[in-house]
Amino acid sequence: MLDGYKNSQPIAYQILKNAIINDKCSHAYLIETGGFYDTFNFVMSFVKSLLCPKTKLTKDNCGNCHQCEVIDSGNFPEIEIIEPDGLWIKKEQLQNLQKEFNTKALIGNKRIYIIKQADRLNKSSANSILKFLEEPDNNLVAILITDNIYNVLSTIRSRCQVLRLQTFNQKNDNENYIEKLKKMVKSNKIKSDTIEEKITKVIEFVNYYEKQHMNTLLYMGKIWNVYITNKEETEMAYEIMINYYKDILNYQLNKPLEIFEINDNIKTIAKNNTQDEICYKLNKIVELKELVKYNINLNLLMDKLIITLEGVI
Ligand SMILES: [Zn+2]
Repeated sequence: MLDGYKNSQPIAYQILKNAIINDKCSHAYLIETGGFYDTFNFVMSFVKSLLCPKTKLTKDNCGNCHQCEVIDSGNFPEIEIIEPDGLWIKKEQLQNLQKEFNTKALIGNKRIYIIKQADRLNKSSANSILKFLEEPDNNLVAILITDNIYNVLSTIRSRCQVLRLQTFNQKNDNENYIEKLKKMVKSNKIKSDTIEEKITKVIEFVNYYEKQHMNTLLYMGKIWNVYITNKEETEMAYEIMINYYKDILNYQLNKPLEIFEINDNIKTIAKNNTQDEICYKLNKIVELKELVKYNINLNLLMDKLIITLEGVI
């Protein structure tokens, strides 16, 4: 059941849970496994939440009604799973899927198709799925799974809501988070006066951004560039931002904070953002952090960050 992933996948869990509660599901999700061993079960628990009539009524996890059992047994007619046939996912596989969906009457409220190893869609097979993605049908939800979203064709990626799962032990790492940061400083990867000062500067930056929004772009030199100067520091700074927003989400959910202590800034940000907005921001920061590895120009990255965060609907 989806609730079982509350702790191991807090961000993805919250995004999907909110989508179900508010009945605002995206028509296409692209899920990056992040090496999470239980990805497929995670996806299926979300699928059950979407299809189960009990969950729809009570907004609670069911997982044990007749319908959920049929889904578990793999015999539910409104779920189609596609995986590569040989090296690639073939055009015919998707055409068959389309044909089937077009001719069969819908039982229940939604139809789901899951594509495993979505990076195995090549240009020709992708074309047949683009139609699905471009003309969303309220009753149809696509869930694409991949180990690396950057291997998925950008035409597909741009039409999906991206969710990135975390490796299983990431949460435990948090306990030693500050220690880990201190080690990075010791190994001279981070030029720093003190690590505490860096953390403070990053937090101040987020607090500033949350008040000033787009204006932040004008002051980037003063509030970011002088403190965060290289790739390692940028990665660390993104880690800090992720953990800060996670704790803001914890505060919104009335859960204990993991790293930070409750203060007025956290309270204000939690008040000014909906849970969905915090999840959106978290997701985007995680996504942009990946770009640091690819030697992106760091100033451009920060501009992109602000613009992306401001894209909150
Ligand atoms: Zn059920």
